[in-house]
Formats: sequence, structure tokens, C-alpha cells
Amino acid sequence: MTTEESRQYILVRYGEIGVKGKNRSIFERQLVRNIRRALRGLPEVEVRREWGHLTVTLPEDAPLTVAVDRLQQVFGIVYFAPATSVENDLEAIKRAAWEVLRPLTFTSFKVDTKRSYKDFPLKSPEVNAEVGAYLQQHSQAEVDLTAPQVTCYLEISPQRTYIHTQRIPGPGGLPVGVSERAVSLLSAGIDSPVASYLMLKRGVEVVFVHFHSYPYTDRASQENALELVKILTQYQYRSRLYFVPLAEIQQRVVALTPPAYRVLLYRRAMFRLADRLAEREKAAALVTGESVGQVASQTLSNLRVTSEVATRPILRPLAGFDKQEIIAQARALGTYEISIEPYEDCCSLFVPQHPATRAKRETVREWEAELAWEPLLEEALAQTEEVVVEFAGSASGWAEGMRVHRRSAG
Ligand code: ATP
Ligand code: MG
Repeated sequence: MTTEESRQYILVRYGEIGVKGKNRSIFERQLVRNIRRALRGLPEVEVRREWGHLTVTLPEDAPLTVAVDRLQQVFGIVYFAPATSVENDLEAIKRAAWEVLRPLTFTSFKVDTKRSYKDFPLKSPEVNAEVGAYLQQHSQAEVDLTAPQVTCYLEISPQRTYIHTQRIPGPGGLPVGVSERAVSLLSAGIDSPVASYLMLKRGVEVVFVHFHSYPYTDRASQENALELVKILTQYQYRSRLYFVPLAEIQQRVVALTPPAYRVLLYRRAMFRLADRLAEREKAAALVTGESVGQVASQTLSNLRVTSEVATRPILRPLAGFDKQEIIAQARALGTYEISIEPYEDCCSLFVPQHPATRAKRETVREWEAELAWEPLLEEALAQTEEVVVEFAGSASGWAEGMRVHRRSAG
């Protein structure tokens, strides 16, 4: 049994905006749950809600750097700080603060106190002055309130006082799970993983759907999609990925409709299928990586033509981004290298040279009626395969802890 003192503490701060009333508790509980899941595989982790913050404690010998890496990816965290903790006693705080600063080299410093424990006998400015004087005496360094080399942060909570010198930024956003669920159309390309990431960041739980043309193509796009989902699962710990076969539908489109309309018809098929999966998943929205004007199917007119078949809002978080900006985000996320691996796209296989850029809705609807593809859509759903990716825990990297379970759905 390790004592409170000998455990390693990490103080976790989350965003306050929008976190009022009943939502606050939902937000905090989800954040606690997500931190526990992110730290799976580390021994004896404890996560607790305290006044206005959370604390994570780990045994003395647990790998702090692994915990730090993981927490940097937990949405909802604004910053966190590995901290020393002491009882709420001014003399103890002074001594502990000096223990924290003593190993550091500095000629100027300040003390920054936050007090959520309102019964502490001194107010924050008084604590700053008292502890500051003690540290000045021991360090011989100057107090500098505007540009100190070291800031000694004191956070006095009802339970204990936390002391640290470094705030490590978290990713911000909202804890995944507080913003309902969406179905994300995940190609094996560059854009859609970034779009999915941005929705996860807003607290949306994401279910993935990938359309493929197997057996007319190989399985490379599916393998790439799975690798992308493994990366995105670092943000939600458990993901479902549906593989939906599109080849039969595409064949009928090629056989019966003129080239200029085919891409739009494929995309209407995708949105219809994704919408039905969303129904099954109780998801409230769809997500795509579309960006206005990027390709012919992404003109505003064509977005209108393709969107109308979905009964849910289609979120397009990349609508206003340039390709270069999306690539930069994909690199930071770690998906870019997977996305540029070669694969035969289900669309490129059957794609015409000159797609219509301003298709008329009536014309597209008429061609769609001609296809009478309803049984094919149902058949595609019946042939859908389901994969679950779960972060089972690891004491080192994320990849070591990812588990894949396959099942067939329908
Ligand atoms: P990406 O880089 O995400 O593939 P893109 O620029 O290649 O995007 P499109 O191929 O027109 O653009 O696809 C637009 C969006 O449609 C994608 O971002 C994705 O959300 C969805 N999509 C395209 N192909 C597929 C697919 N095979 N499976 C699932 N979704 C797809
Ligand atoms: Mg694509």
C-alpha cells in the first residue's frame, strides 16, 4: 500500500465555458471515464473529481512520461501538471514549494496561487507574499511578476495543496461522449480522418463506415481504413468500423447511367447507406471530409444534390480548409503516412473523366429512379462487415494496446 504522499500526482484542469449546471457533472464524469480509459495498462491509476479540477494519482514507480503522453490526447483537458501535494498547512506548503524549486536554476520567479478551498486562513495574494518571501530567502532569486523564469503554482483545494511549475497543454475540446454520436464516412484518403478527428474533438462519439469495391479491388483500402481507425481510437478508446460493399451498386450505375452523373449517384448511394447505418447506431449526424470546391463532387450545387438523400445533418468540418491546411493537420494527427499509401479507391475505379459540376437535381433523381437500386442497397447492408477496435491498455505506446475484433453484421 502506497501512502498519499508517495504517490505521483497529476492535476488536471478542464474548460469552464459551457460547463455549467447539470452539464458540468456530465462533462466531468465523462472526462474521468475517458482519462481512466486513456491510462489503461498503467498500474493502480486513480482519477478523482475535486473542486474545479481532477487529480490523477499513480504509484511512485509508474511511468509518468507515458501518462503525460496519453493525457495530451484526452479531449476536454485544457492543461495538466505533474505536481507535488501537501496538506493544507502554510508551513508545509512553504517547505514543499522550496523542495520543488530547489533543483531548478533560475534568477527570477513568482508564486501564483489559486484557492478553491475558501476556508484556508489566508487569501491567495497573502499566500503569494508569504511563500514568495520564503522562496526568495532560500533561493536568493528576485521576484518578477511580469516575466519570471519560474512560476511556482500553488493550487489549494479542500483536500490538499498541489505545487507545480509547469502547465502541460491538453488538446482542449469536449470529452468524447458528451455530444452524442455520428457516423463518419471514412475513405482511406487524407481528408476524412482529419474530419473525424475534429468531430471527436467536439465530444462526438464517431462510428466509422468505409465503402469498398472488393472483389473488384483488393483489400488495401480496407486495411488502410482499419489502420486509420486505430489512430482515431486513441481519442475514443473503442470504435466500430463498418465495411460496406459498393461494387454491385457501382456496376449497375455504370451499366445504366451516363458518365457525367456517376460520381453523384455513387455519393447518393453512400449517403443513403450511411444514413441507414446511422439509424441503426442511433447516430444523429453524418460526417465527411468534403471541402468546398476541392473536386467536382464538392461544388456547392453537387453537395446539395448529394446531401438531399440523407435525413440527418451532414457535418463537414473541413468545408473551409485548403488542401495544404488539411495535410498539415493529417501530419500532426499521424494519419498522413497511412492515407498516402496506394490503394484502389472504390470511386476511382468507376470514375468518369468529366463529372458534372452543376448537376440538376431533377436529372439526378430521374437517373436514380431508373436504377431501381433499393434491393441492392439492402443487400449491401446485409453484406456489411463490422470490426471493433478497442484500446485494451498498454504500459508503453497506444499501438501495443489496440485490439481488433471482427464480426459480420447485417
Ligand atoms: P478523402 O481524402 O477523405 O478521401 P477526397 O478529397 O478524396 O477525400 P472524395 O473522394 O470526393 O474526396 O470523398 C469525399 C468524402 O466522401 C470523403 O472525405 C469521405 O468522407 C467520403 N468518402 C469518399 N470515399 C469514401 C469511401 N470509400 N468510404 C467512405 N467514405 C468515403
Ligand atoms: Mg477519396
